[in-house]
Amino acid sequence: MSIDLAITGGVIVTPDGLHRGTLLVADGKIAGIAAVDDSVDAAQTIDATGQHILPGLIDIHCHIRAPAYPQRGTVASETRACSAGGITTVFEMPITNPCCNTPEQVVLRRDHFAASAHVDFGLYGAPLSLTEVAVDALADSGIIAFKIFTTPAPPGREVEFAGLAWPNEADQFRALQLIARTGLPVVVHAESAEILAAAPQLDQTDGRSHGLARPPLAEALAVAKLLTMNITAQAKLHIAHVTSSATIDILRQFSGTSDFTAETCPHYLRYTEEDVVRVGVAAKINPPIRHAADRAALWQAIADGVITLVTTDHAGFSAAEKADHADNFLTAPPGHPGTECMLPAMLDAVAQGKVTLVDVMRLLCKNAATRFGLSDRGVLASGRRADLIMVDMDAQTRVTETSLITTAAPVARLSHDEVFRGKLSRSFLAGQTIWDSIPTGLATGRFVTPKGPQ
Ligand SMILES: [Zn+2]
Repeated sequence: MSIDLAITGGVIVTPDGLHRGTLLVADGKIAGIAAVDDSVDAAQTIDATGQHILPGLIDIHCHIRAPAYPQRGTVASETRACSAGGITTVFEMPITNPCCNTPEQVVLRRDHFAASAHVDFGLYGAPLSLTEVAVDALADSGIIAFKIFTTPAPPGREVEFAGLAWPNEADQFRALQLIARTGLPVVVHAESAEILAAAPQLDQTDGRSHGLARPPLAEALAVAKLLTMNITAQAKLHIAHVTSSATIDILRQFSGTSDFTAETCPHYLRYTEEDVVRVGVAAKINPPIRHAADRAALWQAIADGVITLVTTDHAGFSAAEKADHADNFLTAPPGHPGTECMLPAMLDAVAQGKVTLVDVMRLLCKNAATRFGLSDRGVLASGRRADLIMVDMDAQTRVTETSLITTAAPVARLSHDEVFRGKLSRSFLAGQTIWDSIPTGLATGRFVTPKGPQ
């Protein structure tokens, strides 16, 4: 076999630990790991001395929204940002205009993304109607999974949420049952519509109003109901962006009752409501960033295997879209750009001793590949795709508004002026360098389905 690329001198992060060796790449795949002393004849050799090598990250929760809303980012800008964040496979949520809720919309989005994606991408679909015909057609269109909300569409955004918003519990149960038949996962944004509707009158200029309007009870209650339904429905259920100690208690209590998993995001692991108050509406995210005790509970849930994925929930807005609501936490658009800061945040957690690099590999790569059926990636092993990153644990990532590639950099206010220990050095997609201090311009990202790349 002729070797295209040999990465020498680095420490290779695998599920069973750290190994010194030379990573070999041929035809875009990992050809093997040679011993340090083996002589290797490769077309290209990269010296990774001082570096750790991990699989490229798989971000299963991202909102690029293209082709709608180019002021919030395009496929090209946001997948370049993925490459700069070490993400080599990204799953795009269906909230766009119109919502990605039919096979026709999946094809349109697939072709739009394929034209300029710098990383591989999968697409979520929303079941426009709760019928076998509609759900099966969407499953057959190549979507990676389904997404639903337990909350109603935000006022004025009904077209974006058509098929996503199922606040009625009978509908939620029906959706789980129908999707279970397809074998695809269903990812749920879980907050109780009734609890949110009963939010008290608050001073909307105060950052604390957001957490009071969307309390932990809303999340925990919706999750408890979904997990109760899933004992019967037996869907591959995945709970999006868990924020609170209360919800973690529920996840623990339902352990083993059905096939469910849960994720959290770096902003819930790193920040608290005090940061929301400091930063303002740029840090308004649904569900809200909570308190130190919740943050500690999330880290414990990661340690215990209750939470097995970390995702970005990247959601950019233009500076004007956030600024127009600068003094109103109720009306400000929810979301924060996270694509370029997830890896630095998790490397910094390694430096702090909260997790190991093997944990990071599981949380950001392996577990996503396993849960979403991508057997060709997510682990550094022979035959898997050579989607790789090199990281330097002795370097720092200094983030400024101008260092970020995402179009939404001006509103990435939680990250501005952050210093993280650990730094991405290089990203590879199928053995080709896609980021090396800057994006290389290679736009060879492919559509990923549960059956593999198309
Ligand atoms: Zn989201």
